[in-house]
Amino acid sequence: MADVAHFREQLNQAIVAADIVKFFDVLLTISVEMGASDIHIEPFEHYARVRLRVDGILEELVQYPRNLHDSVISKFKIESGQMRPDEKRLPQDARVSTITQTSKEIDLRANTLPTVRWEKLCMRIVDKSKKIPPLEVLGIEGNNNKILYSWINLPNGIILTTWPTGSWKTTTLYSAISQINTVDVNITTFEDPVENKMFGLNQSQVRADIWFTFASGLRSALRQDPDIILVWEIRDHETLDMGMEAAMTGHLVFSTIHTNSAAETLTRIINLGAKWFMIAGSFNLIMAQRLVRRCCDLCSVKVNVKDHPHYERTKACFGSMDREALKQEIIMRGISPAQWTEYINEGWVTQGSGKDLHTWWVCSKCGGSWMKGRLGIYEVLDFTDDIKDLIVAEKSAMELERYALAHGLVSLERDAVLKLIKGVMPMDEIYSTVKHKSG
Ligand SMILES: [Zn+2]
Repeated sequence: MADVAHFREQLNQAIVAADIVKFFDVLLTISVEMGASDIHIEPFEHYARVRLRVDGILEELVQYPRNLHDSVISKFKIESGQMRPDEKRLPQDARVSTITQTSKEIDLRANTLPTVRWEKLCMRIVDKSKKIPPLEVLGIEGNNNKILYSWINLPNGIILTTWPTGSWKTTTLYSAISQINTVDVNITTFEDPVENKMFGLNQSQVRADIWFTFASGLRSALRQDPDIILVWEIRDHETLDMGMEAAMTGHLVFSTIHTNSAAETLTRIINLGAKWFMIAGSFNLIMAQRLVRRCCDLCSVKVNVKDHPHYERTKACFGSMDREALKQEIIMRGISPAQWTEYINEGWVTQGSGKDLHTWWVCSKCGGSWMKGRLGIYEVLDFTDDIKDLIVAEKSAMELERYALAHGLVSLERDAVLKLIKGVMPMDEIYSTVKHKSG
């Protein structure tokens, strides 16, 4: 990481000199170097402030005098080439590609919004220099990882993922696809928007305004001799139906749908009009995902969470799980027997994977918060023969989930607790992102 302190100094100089071009140059560079996903420039009565969203949390970077604000906004509008500087009453959008002072290529999606004071500017940053991390680094571990790898290497079926917005949907899907992106397969994608151009893929941007929809894209994809098709989102019966058809005629289909858990997804696709036997015949797996904060990997701290209000819950979630499956899961994740028993019996957990336990110095990576970066938690529902039988018998999503939980499903909650015991995520994150399900 480049020297952020040096750039902060430059940012302050740009403000003092009212040099708006330099201000944006340095601001974008700092934001990318700090790993920020969004920049907010907000006007108040006497000053404006700049905040960055880093690891999902907003923090203030700098303030500047109110009288600079008009120049900041109008300069941005002009430079973007897509906004009208004289229009201050309506929201405006722009997409800009640029390069930071540290030579990183970025895309910005910017929006101005008139507020009761003045206009606010918000920018979403897509850092194109960022490599797509492997599935393991994102947090797909243990049996979840095994199931996902086994299905993406088969030639047909649907891999359906589900998650709230802003939780690495793009990253996880690209990461999975990059595992199978080889010269001997034709991969066609329909996206909205295309955020990342990947070598070897035929990527199309859908345009609902001119009827180039996910469904019509899928239809034409089938005439393009595809092996693998990615349809960004299933929103309607037509897309779902064609996706299932494609899967049953020898294609591997990736897609996403908006629900809360893997089991809930079944209810949603039934509501979209899918027939039970079609689901059993075409689905490989359903995967749910959430994003949480990750413990620092440079330092670590040993804490006791026995008095934490969620401690008993975290233990209860393994209640119904097949003992042998649980044992295998713990081994696959590299959790030692000592780590496991210390947590279950006494509530001790070591957060962070740094080698030394330090309480007296401030860690340079996390600033003493013991947290740095983000991590995914996952739930992968494998369409085994047992599960398919239950689906053909039209069992409810709840019954299906209960069966899967008893037979080794690593739910979002179980995945989170295993990650807590391993020391890669903190206790407070678990139930702020997942629902507790008894046993
Ligand atoms: Zn640290």
